[in-house]
Amino acid sequence: MLINVTGNGKGKSTSAFGTVIRALGWGWRVALLQFIKGKLETGEVRFFRSLKQENFMFEQLGTGLSWQPGNHKELAQAGWLRAKELLQAPELQLLVLDELNIALHLKYLDIDEVVEAIRNRRDGLHVMITGRYANEKLLKISDLVSEIQAIKHPFEKGEPAIPGIDY
Ligand code: ATP
Ligand code: MG
Repeated sequence: MLINVTGNGKGKSTSAFGTVIRALGWGWRVALLQFIKGKLETGEVRFFRSLKQENFMFEQLGTGLSWQPGNHKELAQAGWLRAKELLQAPELQLLVLDELNIALHLKYLDIDEVVEAIRNRRDGLHVMITGRYANEKLLKISDLVSEIQAIKHPFEKGEPAIPGIDY
């Protein structure tokens, strides 16, 4: 199953985190790679780092080298190499590529290469991708696509993000 959660409303990444919990509950082997976002200390980072789960791999692609200015594209590409490995990992059952849609939208990665690698993923591996501005080519090969539409968000009134809710 290839899932994509996109759109301009809140709830894409948290939907993926919920799916991670569900899969781990069934004893699946799960990997979560976060593209783009890497610097911020978020609730999910704190939680996933503290989680003692043999079956779970959490990697923020970007944190390691974030002191280098303007290397976002390189970081996304390094992250993609990691994702490609995991697309063939023998025991993995769920791979979440959080914000991959954005990395593609910003042209950090080649869409045709990504589509090809995801299509050729190991049989039985479920992949869930999140982020705004999902690429049409990716949506075309997806089995399940949800678009979250913003109706209102406190951000529009200039209200700051809330830890525990927004990050
Ligand atoms: P979440 O991680 O809460 O599920 P998301 O993955 O759908 O959100 P992103 O585009 O990754 O959304 O942005 C994450 C941050 O942006 C969160 O702090 C979220 O509250 C905020 N956000 C999401 N949707 C909107 C919106 N329509 N307007 C302003 N801020 C938003
Ligand atoms: Mg998100």
